[in-house]
Amino acid sequence: MGEQTSRQAGERAGERAGERTGEQAGVPAESALARAWAELVATARRTATEGLVVGTSGNVSVRVGDIVLVTPSGVPYDRLAPHDAVGVDLDGRRMLGELAPTSELPLHLALYRATSARAVVHTHAVHATAVSTLVQELPPIHYMTMALGGPVRVAPYALYGTAELAENMLAALRERTGCLLRNHGTVTYGDTLDQAYDRTAQLEWMCRLWLTATSVPGHTPTLLTPDQLADVERQLRGYGQRPGPAR
Ligand code: 13P
Ligand code: ZN
Repeated sequence: MGEQTSRQAGERAGERAGERTGEQAGVPAESALARAWAELVATARRTATEGLVVGTSGNVSVRVGDIVLVTPSGVPYDRLAPHDAVGVDLDGRRMLGELAPTSELPLHLALYRATSARAVVHTHAVHATAVSTLVQELPPIHYMTMALGGPVRVAPYALYGTAELAENMLAALRERTGCLLRNHGTVTYGDTLDQAYDRTAQLEWMCRLWLTATSVPGHTPTLLTPDQLADVERQLRGYGQRPGPAR
């Protein structure tokens, strides 16, 4: 699809949302929906190209006002076009699009209702899923544990797509921005799609690190103590670039 056609289709997707929802509070501008859908598709594609999912596994969502855009169920991400946008309200009522939403809609909506999440990423990343079958909690082997709020818990197994899975996930996410789903995969959330995605990538990396360190025969990896983790938490508050005068 050419750039011009793509943009027009994106705008039409936004228009459809506007037509269905009217101009009420919490209803985002059409252009905001089209932009958010483009970012969501780019993020979903990244989960596949960077090896965090295979085929149509996993799903991604982003909240724009009171509308939640979600990946459709069982559609390969490279086939998603601007006119495929799927949007629901916080109760799961369809506001936009024709395709069936992800089967994990209960999980995504539970997170938006219970937390300040603006974006959610669910994957079947291989090292993280392996760890989900071995422990109740990922041992704090690296300081990036604190980038997810503390040692990452494993939610008890429940059938995919169920309210029970969503409930188990919410309990595992208490004071955390990421968790593992037993024998299933990962869930992370954030203020933006990039932040939610980055948390998934960090979580998968940490799981791979732990599996690597624990696979050396005759050795047990050292772990960080609660005091060390508390120091990290303070230090991370000042991590990165400070806001300052424009250069
Ligand atoms: P969907 O294709 O319905 O999003 O399902 C994929 C998945 O990961 C279910 O847990
Ligand atoms: Zn899944």
